[in-house]
Amino acid sequence: MLKVCKFGGTSMADAASIRKVKDIILGEESRKYVVVSAPGKRNKEDIKITDTLYKCYNDLVEKGDFSERFSLIRERFLGIAADLGLKSDFKAILDVTEKEIAEKKSADFTASRGEYLSARIMAEFLGFEFVDAEDMIRFDSQGRLNEEYTDDKVKTRLKHVDKAVIPGFYGRDSEGKVKTFSRGGSDITGSVIARGVKADLYENWTDVSGFLICDPRIVPEAETIRQITYKELRELSYMGASVLHAEAIFPVMKVKIPINIRNTFKPEDKGTMIVPNEQYKSLSGEIITGIAGKKNFTVIFIEKSMMNSEVGFIRRVLSVIEHHGLCIEHVPSGIDTLSIVLESEQLKNGVLSDIVNEIRENVSPDYVHVIENISLIATVGHGMARRTGTAATLFSALAKAGINIAMIDQGSSELNIIIGVANSDYEKCIKAIYDAFVIANKK
Ligand code: ASP
Repeated sequence: MLKVCKFGGTSMADAASIRKVKDIILGEESRKYVVVSAPGKRNKEDIKITDTLYKCYNDLVEKGDFSERFSLIRERFLGIAADLGLKSDFKAILDVTEKEIAEKKSADFTASRGEYLSARIMAEFLGFEFVDAEDMIRFDSQGRLNEEYTDDKVKTRLKHVDKAVIPGFYGRDSEGKVKTFSRGGSDITGSVIARGVKADLYENWTDVSGFLICDPRIVPEAETIRQITYKELRELSYMGASVLHAEAIFPVMKVKIPINIRNTFKPEDKGTMIVPNEQYKSLSGEIITGIAGKKNFTVIFIEKSMMNSEVGFIRRVLSVIEHHGLCIEHVPSGIDTLSIVLESEQLKNGVLSDIVNEIRENVSPDYVHVIENISLIATVGHGMARRTGTAATLFSALAKAGINIAMIDQGSSELNIIIGVANSDYEKCIKAIYDAFVIANKK
């Protein structure tokens, strides 16, 4: 058994948490490769190291000096190193880091130092080798992960290293300069390393015991999802779940390495297992896996008789949106109707009326109608595909709760029913779906 473990910012926030991390890692011989984030918040008011580093960079650019802000970074790392009783001269390491930040003048390089220093500390504390991510992870000239190169480097670099700590969040660009993933990207590093070393499992240790079936602010008793497929998670994360970086599943998905979300502060919890379809074993006959939603969408509803026989109709409508450079969320359609669902944020400052006018000019519809303040709610579960009556249960629950449905879109995967409701019904709707599927399934 070979495991890659990634520990997030809260797990690395202070010496007490780092001690917990060490116990977890040494608790199993199979936990050989460890990826770490930069220290995160110790409490609600605290500031993440990464955020302070971005501010250091801003100070450098705006004022030409960032030493005052960098003293916060020094204090934090020197405090942790002293608390853990580490022998290395971290003061000297921080001096070098400060000098390099000043020389390189790169936002990415500056931000990456949080993970770099965190990994140096963890490696020494565990007695593992420090292996720098910049020697393994490569981006192409478009800024995308160069998978082949990276895979090969991870494999060869770690081949003869029994146990290692690797900083998350960054690699090198095609010119050899340090480049970061997007925020929260250490999750992707963990996944990339797991694939490169052909791990049996990628453990992602965070500060919650996995994904919840739905937002606990709406349903406080919402339970943890014990098992979810990569595809279901895609449908849910896309709607806003925030435990794992949305892109982190792709490197391991292709090679079918499961991800286990675990809680550093409750290591006895089993967490959520993210598995390929073929490894999914139904535990208790659950029909749905999760419910996720997001507020503030706008639906542009277009009707035209014989739309279905008009060549290029949909393309012409979509090209209006494309011309404005906007992303489309969903495009549910009927025989004579087409709805375009967009995030309202994109439609400010007259963009919405421009789009509607252009659609009128381009395709001469019979009718165009705009519905604003819509929430999208996705009910996800591959248990739905094999069962009749799921949609009926969903819709009758909403009818009973007095919720009007403005839009319905069942993805072709049969994994997901997305509905649009008024923002004001958002919470009520999620609660009604939870009751109809999760509570009722228990009875
Ligand atoms: N430290 C980085 C961030 O705060 C990356 C990570 O933690 O995954 O976004």
